[in-house]
Amino acid sequence: AQTWILAKHFNGFPKESDFQLKEEELPEPKAGEVLLEALFLSVDPYMRPFSRVRMKEGDVMIGTQVAKVVQSRNAAFPVGAHVVSRGGWRTHTVSDGSDLVPVMPDWPRDVSLSLALGTVGMPGLTALYGIEEVLELKSGETLLVNAAAGAVGSVAGQMAKMKGCRVVGSAGSDAKVAFLKELGFDEAFNYKTVASLEEALKKAAPDGYDCFFENVGGPFSSVAMSQMKDFGRIAVCGSISTYNDTEVQTGPYPQMTMIVKQLKMEGFMQSRWEPKHPESLRRLMGWLKEGKLQSREHITKGFENMPAAFMGMLRGENTGKAIVEV
Ligand code: NDP
Repeated sequence: AQTWILAKHFNGFPKESDFQLKEEELPEPKAGEVLLEALFLSVDPYMRPFSRVRMKEGDVMIGTQVAKVVQSRNAAFPVGAHVVSRGGWRTHTVSDGSDLVPVMPDWPRDVSLSLALGTVGMPGLTALYGIEEVLELKSGETLLVNAAAGAVGSVAGQMAKMKGCRVVGSAGSDAKVAFLKELGFDEAFNYKTVASLEEALKKAAPDGYDCFFENVGGPFSSVAMSQMKDFGRIAVCGSISTYNDTEVQTGPYPQMTMIVKQLKMEGFMQSRWEPKHPESLRRLMGWLKEGKLQSREHITKGFENMPAAFMGMLRGENTGKAIVEV
């Protein structure tokens, strides 16, 4: 078995030398345990901020994977079953089952199991709850989504289109902008090449935004807030532009803008609605099968490339969900 260890806490943008590949001898599964073999592993933005608070140097990198049960002494997880495991960056894992969730029953044969880490997994759920529970987005409203070509943003934007909204997305390359148009976004722009973010946001929605699905944080947010309509709602999902900062951001949000526009802003984590996950995953899978939801993945091959895939995602190399296939 192989694992990737956090050798050194990240300082600024992660470096290859912060990770270490380790060989591990696994024990035979005891009664109640299973042996898992990883098929697909997820690399996600949260791993960067959570590395500081949830991990110490020498720990296996945190993360989820789709794995196959290859030995079983637990009737709930027979040999051949597919599970989503929170085992971290490992090729093989011995688990007592407590951190395992079976992949949705009746997973269609023509849908890659890797989507259980993306559109029909945690990122899809995040988009769904942000749109329905936090923003309570209504037909006819105008939504802004940033990091829109990524795992969460692409689902959030498509859900908003299904609800009859006007959707504006920003992303970091012209190819991603073209992808957003393919997905049905009404307007999309490359935030890296526009002369003025404020003008780009204004041009895309001259009457302003009712809702903002916020994935990026930093200066983008302040400018976006200035383009909200009065009583606008903001779902604060992520803040990826700040995750590699070496100093904690203390700068305030543009408070006068919030006051004068009477904005409502709510941070959230998808885990708040955990009891709804099974039903929500069924809804996401339904939309996928009906062709209402398109899904793209950025697949890196080889467990040895986990750090490169993770750093590539933080740099924006992925369109859609960043996945590693073992
Ligand atoms: P993505 O698939 O969107 O990948 C990350 C993307 O972020 C990159 O492709 C890149 O795209 C963009 N990015 C990186 N650096 C910057 C920057 N400085 N400014 C603007 N964009 C940047 O990841 P996810 O969809 O998994 O996650 C999106 C956001 O949602 C993250 O902030 C994440 O932390 C958050 N999240 C929150 C959850 C919750 O429960 N609250 C759960 C899951 C995710 P580009 O080329 O466009 O720059």
